[in-house]
Amino acid sequence: MTPDAELSPATLAVVAGRPARAQGAPVNAPVVLSSTYVSAGAPGPDESLYARIDTETWHPFEEVLGRLEDAGRPAVVFGSGMAAIAAAMSLIPPGGRLVMPRHSYQVALGYATDLSERSGVRVTLVDIDDTEAVVAAVNGPEGPASMLWVESPTNPMLEVADIPTLVAAAHAVGALVCVDNTFATPLVQRPLTWGADVVVHSVTKYLAGHSDVVLGAAVATDADLTARLRAYRTLHGAIAGPWEVWLALRGMRTLALRVERSQASAAELAARLHGHPAVVAVRHPSLPDDPGHARAAALMDGFGSIIGLRPRGGAEGARAVVAAVQLWVPATSLGGVESSLERRRRFASESITVPDDLLRLSVGIEDVEDLWADLDRALRSLR
Ligand SMILES: *Cc1c(COP(=O)(O)O)cnc(C)c1O
Repeated sequence: MTPDAELSPATLAVVAGRPARAQGAPVNAPVVLSSTYVSAGAPGPDESLYARIDTETWHPFEEVLGRLEDAGRPAVVFGSGMAAIAAAMSLIPPGGRLVMPRHSYQVALGYATDLSERSGVRVTLVDIDDTEAVVAAVNGPEGPASMLWVESPTNPMLEVADIPTLVAAAHAVGALVCVDNTFATPLVQRPLTWGADVVVHSVTKYLAGHSDVVLGAAVATDADLTARLRAYRTLHGAIAGPWEVWLALRGMRTLALRVERSQASAAELAARLHGHPAVVAVRHPSLPDDPGHARAAALMDGFGSIIGLRPRGGAEGARAVVAAVQLWVPATSLGGVESSLERRRRFASESITVPDDLLRLSVGIEDVEDLWADLDRALRSLR
């Protein structure tokens, strides 16, 4: 096949991970349902043996994601985004120090708390868009960090990190850098090309894209780190089922179209919400006055499809908007073809620094005018 450097990510998403082109060969990789493989005697290093260790049904997905992230090697698929996050955080030594965003995905924060209780990992929370503060924390008075965790844009606050600068600062003290790239997708930002050590994804979201599968992945450039992530998967049994991986691969074939459409719609909706009489604040990095705009414009190939919206009327107003929409789906999760929204603080576990009235909007691929009409009607119903 043509080398990756000559193919755009939109093309790679379609053509990578196909069976070798030969007369009569299938265009799509088969799904193999077999827990075990015929094997006698001492198995060779790459021999198929048992499907918790490896199965060929994972490989096309792992190849596509590895190439999209520009890793130079395949990704490692996991049973969920959280399994991939747990694998990445297992790279922190016991008693090590983890610096992570205050507004990371809340279950990732929960896992870090669990690590601090079980393994003595010390956790320092930072505002990831405050580069000076993050650099200071990485060099903290309690000693250098072992890992810098980055999420950008953050979930749900949409803060944008200066990832290249943070990578350099973390590497200067010998810390690993792991980036949760779920919100951006590799079509919008490729942290490994900035020197990040590991990228993790909730494949559940944009990569699979249809809200019909829970899946995760981790990707590293380094062979040793990749081997450790794979070993974690095997030892913890944090594996994905073959059908889930096949669904995600199928979803990934249309990733570029979906991301292009939903990003364009999100920017359009954010601009209209900006001047809306029933809106107190709107956050989307595409808005010229958004705190993350300049950085996102410099670093990202787009601004993502998540909008932060604070309607008039506080938490009550936010609840009323969720109750009034008819097209937007009130649901947690994001990144599906269908647009959805959620008041994040309905979860007691959500950070109290997330405003009580904040709605997180995930913009899908419906017609933008239909999305606007529904949202505008719901907002206008607020007294
Ligand atoms: C959903 C999500 C996760 C967790 O992924 P699961 O597939 O639900 O386990 C991690 N990070 C971010 C940014 C997410 O949105």
